[in-house]
Amino acid sequence: MRSRIAPISAFAFALLAAATSLALAATTATTAHAGGIETDEPREESAEPTSLTFMLRVRAEAGLQSARLVYKVLNPDGDVGGSAEGAFTSGAETDVVFTLKTIDFQRYIPVGSTFVYHWELVDRDGDEFSTPEREFTFMDGRYTWRSMAEGGVRAFWYGNNDNGAMTALRAAREALETVGALLDTTVPYEVKVVVWRSEEDGEAARQSRGVVFDQFINTQGQRVAPDLIFVFAAASDVIRHETAHVVTHVAGDGPFSSIPSWLDEGTAVYAQSSPGQGYLQGLQDAVATDTTFSLRSMGAPANRPKDVNQFYGQAYSAVDFLIEEFGVEKFAELYRVHHEGQRIDGALQAVYGFDQNGLYNAWREANNLRPELLTAPPTATTAPAAEATRGPIALPSPDTAATTRPVAPADSATATPQPAAGAAEAAASDSSTAAGLIVGLIAVLLALGLGAGAFVMLRRN
Ligand SMILES: [Zn+2]
Repeated sequence: MRSRIAPISAFAFALLAAATSLALAATTATTAHAGGIETDEPREESAEPTSLTFMLRVRAEAGLQSARLVYKVLNPDGDVGGSAEGAFTSGAETDVVFTLKTIDFQRYIPVGSTFVYHWELVDRDGDEFSTPEREFTFMDGRYTWRSMAEGGVRAFWYGNNDNGAMTALRAAREALETVGALLDTTVPYEVKVVVWRSEEDGEAARQSRGVVFDQFINTQGQRVAPDLIFVFAAASDVIRHETAHVVTHVAGDGPFSSIPSWLDEGTAVYAQSSPGQGYLQGLQDAVATDTTFSLRSMGAPANRPKDVNQFYGQAYSAVDFLIEEFGVEKFAELYRVHHEGQRIDGALQAVYGFDQNGLYNAWREANNLRPELLTAPPTATTAPAAEATRGPIALPSPDTAATTRPVAPADSATATPQPAAGAAEAAASDSSTAAGLIVGLIAVLLALGLGAGAFVMLRRN
């Protein structure tokens, strides 16, 4: 049930792109008067993705007393915002300026986020004035962005990458449709896809991270907010995968917990046109050597590079098993029950009559492995604690050879060959030296509340 959407003709695309190339410009009111205060139209500038400067030219005969910026960042799960005092000089005319750090250890506001804000001004006579609410999309000022929206998806891109943008739009729409049908849900908001031309290009727009993991992991895509995807390699399967994460979040994440990583990533890989050779190999090797991970250990993403292929391969296989054995209706039901507040074991029990251990052993038997003795799940009534929220498994990197590595089948002398269409989120590696640090880094990222799994691959070194 993977429907294909006919590609837009290149000509039509060019027309549409041209027509919407100005979409990023904010359009809100201009000069304002109130008491003795007068302003020009507010402006925003972002020379780099790590900061955003708000500016406002103000004329006030009495001189300004205070200038407060009140902003929020729109987010489907709940807007976040704040306020800050702008800097200005004394005198009848001044520029009020405030620079917001968008990426630091306390905050990550990704490129592509939509801001709504206004200034609250008070002059020395006590006159007050607020500028009208202004909305704009925060983009990386190093590039000249274009945007195009279609069927619930908006793509942002720059440079000579119309093809990448078109692939992003088509694949994201396709995934919204097919995964939405699979999980019997509809994403109630527009999905934004920021298309970078390379991982290097988008590097500065990502959260700070450690160095060691970067030597092994290459990220092709990442969901950075519930409605926002970064794509560093505009391959259809990368985009399908990341868009699937948008849908799984809507369908499955509940008030108390996110769905476990095996279900989230398994569904995302299932949404690809093919799981890719790397994951399948990781799966086959684990089954052949009877070294499979228990599902219960797969609540959070794999944190060792060498486990990545097996993790995704097994996650995919478990999801595929559920769907093939018991049908799509029950699968959608599992998401629905979890979304309504059941923990994963309770949700599985309610829909299928087994918990994660039961599913794991049924899956093992289907793969001709004997059942394992597993510890019982924690009782369903005691909720919280253990279940991990999804974090990106990849902490990207300053990569010097980023453009060639991803999907080239030729670059793997010792490790698993890569699939031809960017299908693998990660591929096996023979190195695990980074493991300890990775755990720490992932903990940091989880603490920072970064969104669902990244689409990653291992670097060859
Ligand atoms: Zn993923």
